[in-house]
Amino acid sequence: MEDRILNPAEIAEDTENDNPLRPQTLGEYIGQEKVKENLKIFIDAAKFRKEPLDHVLLYGPPGLGKTTLSMIIAKELGVNIRITSGPAIEKPGDLAALLTNLSEGDVLFIDEIHRLSRAVEEILYPAMEDFSIDIVTGKGQMATSYHLPLPKFTLIGATTRAGQLTAPLRDRFGVILRLEMYSPEQLSQIIKRSASILKIKINDEGALEIASRSRGTPRIANRLLKRVRDFAQILGQGEINLKIAQTALNKLDVDKLGLDANDRRLIETMIKFYGGGPVGLETLAAAIGEESITIEDVYEPFLMQIGFLSRTPRGRCVTQAAYLHLGYKNQNLQTEQCTFE
Ligand code: ADP
Repeated sequence: MEDRILNPAEIAEDTENDNPLRPQTLGEYIGQEKVKENLKIFIDAAKFRKEPLDHVLLYGPPGLGKTTLSMIIAKELGVNIRITSGPAIEKPGDLAALLTNLSEGDVLFIDEIHRLSRAVEEILYPAMEDFSIDIVTGKGQMATSYHLPLPKFTLIGATTRAGQLTAPLRDRFGVILRLEMYSPEQLSQIIKRSASILKIKINDEGALEIASRSRGTPRIANRLLKRVRDFAQILGQGEINLKIAQTALNKLDVDKLGLDANDRRLIETMIKFYGGGPVGLETLAAAIGEESITIEDVYEPFLMQIGFLSRTPRGRCVTQAAYLHLGYKNQNLQTEQCTFE
């Protein structure tokens, strides 16, 4: 996965120079209309009541703009944001230190919140509910417990799937919002905005071509834009048009629908070794040498979105559309178990 240009997880290049491509306001944040509409009301209401915003859970595949949106929420509320992640908070004390350093109304953003340890999660419950924590110091008979009030803050949690969260944690979020994959038209707008910030010349057809191959994900769209720019500078006159975009993306092995060699390998493996499915997640992970969580978070959301994979109670199935895309010509390629599930 490391060298994969279509990997939606963040890599160093994405955050270079503090990422000038991140939109700063709700107005600049393209797409996710329903989410923005609701958030605007919640933010305005919180400001009107002079209260902190209720805790917010954002979920959706990586690279869709959860961190960006959290920064915008803090900015619109006029408060500071502290950014951390589930795996970075190792001990309850780490979380206590973060919480006690917040100011009234601040936003604490925890990425990958489903990866908090149980011990840390337990500190978070009273912090979210009553804005206080109980800290125990010492052991055995010497143990003393302190009740510590906290400033009223807003927790924004981000996760790839809401179902990964424990029920008690999920229940403590007042606002739960799901980010959707972006349409090619929305991604094309994002690409044109990014191109103007990076001073890259691009026409409408070039932008739409990159957008159509970006798997509904702004992070990938921005990354492909930067790579296609290299081709435009060396092979063309510096401007990205349809032809340059097509040539570059073909050379990068990103096909018309945005599938790369890894996606094709996954589907081919399912077809060749498992008759197109149903295949269990663990079996599939072992067969292609990926972690099952990577398959679930990275490969599947997009392949399911474009109707190439379906999930059945017995496992994953390749759909007719995927067979055809990979060049299989026969009509009824799906196994009965997949067709009649
Ligand atoms: P996540 O936290 O969901 O993994 P990020 O918030 O880090 O995703 O977004 C990845 C990148 O995609 C950002 O740096 C930003 O440049 C771009 N981006 C995300 N959402 C949008 C959007 N709605 N409009 C414009 N650019 C976006």
